[in-house]
Amino acid sequence: MDIHATTSTQTTPQAQSPDAGTWTLEKARALHDAPFNNLIFLAQTVHRQNFDPNKVQLSRLLSIKTGGCPEDCGYCSQSAHHESGLKASKLMEVRRVIAEATKARDAGATRYCMGAAWRNPKARDMDAVVAMVEGVKALGMETCMTLGMLDLEQAVRLKQAGLDYYNHNIDTSERHYSEVISTRSFADRLETLEHVRQSGIKVCCGGIVGMGEEATDRIDMLVTLANLPEPPESVPINMLIPIAGTPLAEARPIEPIEFVRVIALARIMMPKSHVRLSAGRTAMTDEMQALCFFAGANSIFVGDTLLTADNPGEDKDTMLFRRLGIEPMDLDTQ
Ligand code: SF4
Repeated sequence: MDIHATTSTQTTPQAQSPDAGTWTLEKARALHDAPFNNLIFLAQTVHRQNFDPNKVQLSRLLSIKTGGCPEDCGYCSQSAHHESGLKASKLMEVRRVIAEATKARDAGATRYCMGAAWRNPKARDMDAVVAMVEGVKALGMETCMTLGMLDLEQAVRLKQAGLDYYNHNIDTSERHYSEVISTRSFADRLETLEHVRQSGIKVCCGGIVGMGEEATDRIDMLVTLANLPEPPESVPINMLIPIAGTPLAEARPIEPIEFVRVIALARIMMPKSHVRLSAGRTAMTDEMQALCFFAGANSIFVGDTLLTADNPGEDKDTMLFRRLGIEPMDLDTQ
């Protein structure tokens, strides 16, 4: 397909991109910069070849250990390096986590994501997080955790406990990474992703846009993800929520059409992945979210809060889904 064609052409894009694993910045850039209608049309076509276009997967997120994090991610209110005013808390008790997960399941969530503000889990924390995975799994939900860097042994232990997904974002391009975080490297991220894959846990990995990066950085981030030995099963795309007291409090917001281009590109480059419209939905209009779903986003977080930032309440999401004719995705089709 000539993605830049200005006249209508009959197109049959491949379900699995013929470029899988061999994306270059140039190829991805050509798609990204195409006329918007051509890009969105291709993204929707690829989406329909791989998913029911009117189903969206719902995940629920719980912060099991908030704040006081030794990492210095420039966007995050939980870093001990920033003055965001967030109060640090200890690791939540296992039974409280299970009680919260039960409520989420009863409200329709099929995947439960548990996040801890750590550089990496300590040996003394592993028994508790393993018990959380086992308990949530026993409720019949998919389990996901984000705990920072993992060594292979920890990943294998979590897999044995029943962990389905591990979230570990690469955040941005390799070039822009050190502008945002100094306490770890891009290579550190890739190493943990490798441990997660080796253990057999599915990978949830994406990034954040609107952190002062160039369009090239956003494209390059997707090239890295699409070229992983196996692309992530879930690709969260977050729009920065600037938080007072963090280094990115004044970051220039990304323009909505630019954001939709990133979603569309992710859909085309990783046709079989769930592309998650993640943090930042409170700053999006219903129309922008609808456009993102049309561009291939098919997963969201539900609930009033993400780890620490606001998220549209369930009523608002339910109403939007009703207006768009979108239904929650069943567990067995995920
Ligand atoms: S994003 Fe995660 S690792 Fe970075 S400061 Fe926040 S909690 Fe820590």
